Amino acid sequence: MRFNKVKPGSLFACVLGARIVFYKVSQPETWEEGPCPACGDAAPWNARSVSSGRLAHVCKNEEVVLLESKQDRAIHETVYLQGDDARRFFKEGYCESCLRPAGEWARPDRFGGCEVHGDYDRGGNLCGFLCSQCAGAGS
Ligand SMILES: [Zn+2]
Ligand SMILES: [Zn+2]
Repeated sequence: MRFNKVKPGSLFACVLGARIVFYKVSQPETWEEGPCPACGDAAPWNARSVSSGRLAHVCKNEEVVLLESKQDRAIHETVYLQGDDARRFFKEGYCESCLRPAGEWARPDRFGGCEVHGDYDRGGNLCGFLCSQCAGAGS
């Protein structure tokens, strides 16, 4: 379905099976750079991530996947870090949303690893981590 046909409040993903779920906001907001260069939308902040609450922009004619069943809405967003990944995360990692260092909100388990909320981009690719507060009440 094209994004401009999606009703405000509806949940959607940008591609089928994407990990990140958005909903369309009823009152789009403007951003500082002016209209979207791709679609000319004057108020580009027209969607919000369900898990992180972050604003996003979807072009008017972009095809999105509407999510209706409860199962589709499930967001599988935790990642298990271990070994060097975990050590690096505790030392240098931070929450993508509130920027607090990982050392303040993440604790290693008895194996030295850690389960952490992933922050996914619109394509469903992992691009960072979120503390449990920023990951939202749903989890
Ligand atoms: Zn656009
Ligand atoms: Zn945070």
